[in-house]
Amino acid sequence: MKYDNYEEFEQAKIACRDCEIGLAYNRVVPSLGNKVDPTVIVIGECAGREEVEHGEPFIGKCGKLLRKHLNESGFCKENCLITNTIPCRPLNNQFPTDTKLVSHCVDQWLAKEIEILRPRFILIVGGKALKNVMGIDGITKNRGSWMTYPKIWEPSLEIGVMATFHPSYVLRKEHMAEGPGVLESFKVDIATVSKAAGFHLT
Ligand code: URA
Repeated sequence: MKYDNYEEFEQAKIACRDCEIGLAYNRVVPSLGNKVDPTVIVIGECAGREEVEHGEPFIGKCGKLLRKHLNESGFCKENCLITNTIPCRPLNNQFPTDTKLVSHCVDQWLAKEIEILRPRFILIVGGKALKNVMGIDGITKNRGSWMTYPKIWEPSLEIGVMATFHPSYVLRKEHMAEGPGVLESFKVDIATVSKAAGFHLT
C-alpha cells in the first residue's frame, strides 16, 4: 500500500487489526514526535500497559529512563520520532515469537514509516528491535557500532543505525555489578547518535 502523506499512513496504522495482537487490547499506539522530517527515529520493542492507556510510546518506568537520557542528549519531539517495532501491546507483555507475524507488522508499518519520513539516523533500543529491524542477533556485541539500514528504496540514500540496550535491561542491571557499565554504554550510544545528528549543538 502506498500513502500520500503521514496522516493517511497513521490513520491506516491505527485502524490495523491484522493479527491477534492488534485485537488483544484493540489499541494501536501511534508514534510520538516529529511526523514530518525527524532527523532520528528511535525504535523500541512494543507497547506496554501504560503506553496503551496513554496512547504514547515509552511512557512507563523504562520509558521515563529512556526519555530522560534522550532529553539530556538533546533529543526532543521537534527533532526525533519515538516508535516501536510493534505498535501494540502483546498479550502477557511478551514480545511475539511468531516471526511471520512480526515481519508482517514491521513491513506493513515501521518500514513504511521510515520510508515516508526518511530520517538520517535510527536509534534502535534493545535486542528485539535489533533482530526485527536489522536482522541481527546480539545486542551486547552489536551495540555502539554504526550500521546501515538495509531496506533502502533509493540507491543514494543512507540511513545510519546505532543500537543500544533496552532501558528495561539498564534498570534490571542497576543494582548489579555490571550496572554502571550498562548505563554508561546506554548514555554513550545515545550521545553518539546525538552528536552525529548535530543535536549537541542546538
Ligand atoms: N514501552 C515502549 O513503548 N516500548 C518499549 O520497548 C518498552 C516500553
